[in-house]
Amino acid sequence: MIKNNPLKLDKISLTTNWPVGPVNVYIIYGEKLTLVDTGLRNEKTWRELQDGLQKLDLSMKDIEQIVITHHHNDHAGLLDWIIKEHPIPVYAHENARPFIERDRDYFKWSDEFFEKLYDEFGVPNTLVKDSKRKKRTRRQLIEIDLRTVKEGDTIPGLHDWEVIETKGHSQDHISLFNQNSRQLICGDHIIKGMPAGIFLDAPFFSNEQRPKQLIQYIHSLKKCSKLNVSQAYSGHGPVMNHISKVIDEQMRRIENRANRTKKVLGNKQLTGFEIIQAMYPKRYEEAVGLFVSETVNLLDLLQHRKEVITKSRNGRLYYSLY
Ligand SMILES: [Zn+2]
Repeated sequence: MIKNNPLKLDKISLTTNWPVGPVNVYIIYGEKLTLVDTGLRNEKTWRELQDGLQKLDLSMKDIEQIVITHHHNDHAGLLDWIIKEHPIPVYAHENARPFIERDRDYFKWSDEFFEKLYDEFGVPNTLVKDSKRKKRTRRQLIEIDLRTVKEGDTIPGLHDWEVIETKGHSQDHISLFNQNSRQLICGDHIIKGMPAGIFLDAPFFSNEQRPKQLIQYIHSLKKCSKLNVSQAYSGHGPVMNHISKVIDEQMRRIENRANRTKKVLGNKQLTGFEIIQAMYPKRYEEAVGLFVSETVNLLDLLQHRKEVITKSRNGRLYYSLY
């Protein structure tokens, strides 16, 4: 017998050992019992998920379908293990497909794309670590009944929840919004007290332009601020009762960073990597990937606002104030 939570929602927190803290996965008691996100793929998470379900008087066999907010490992990693034991439909955005199905052609193209991006940005080869990206193509493939969704869709068995595309954090990010209770399951789109974590994705076709993810992210924030959300359930951190405050905070952080970037540029013409070195003089080697993501995004925003111009010289990009 499945108990019915009056909020129609329960949370299970799973360890990640990442700076962002444990990941929250959710159970929606819809017409179909739905698991939203899965946690990392390891024994510890697997056990924690089973224990979490048990505490709710549930077992894996009760879950009828899975929704993935986005493809990152802390949200979709455990998918294979669950599906292997208990094959059920998985719903995700169309853009999650190459990651979930481990499309080797996409990964290969993505590696080339990042190589070029780092090169144009002036990042020295010694700091570029690509071993992580190569490893993912070697994993075993599991057949997944993947059903893709887009903005405005309703997932079968969740009739009062609507899919809201919240691109920015990744290119496949979706949130679920309940029209009646005004609850929002927002994955990593909005996390209380955490800066906007935007992970660059390569475009899905080699002839496509790189998506401007910070601009997408701001658009998605604005979309959510119009929803009149009662409570927002994030992929990390606490439930948010006042989402507009958290959104304002995010916007302030973005503006502060954009202003710092402009200050660093001053009257100089710099490569992306020189900007990173000036912004993070002591730390830039620690997490160069994160800093590249952040700086690419801030420069996109400033260019979009016509505050920064870019010039290409010998395959390298140089930025200066407009
Ligand atoms: Zn996450």
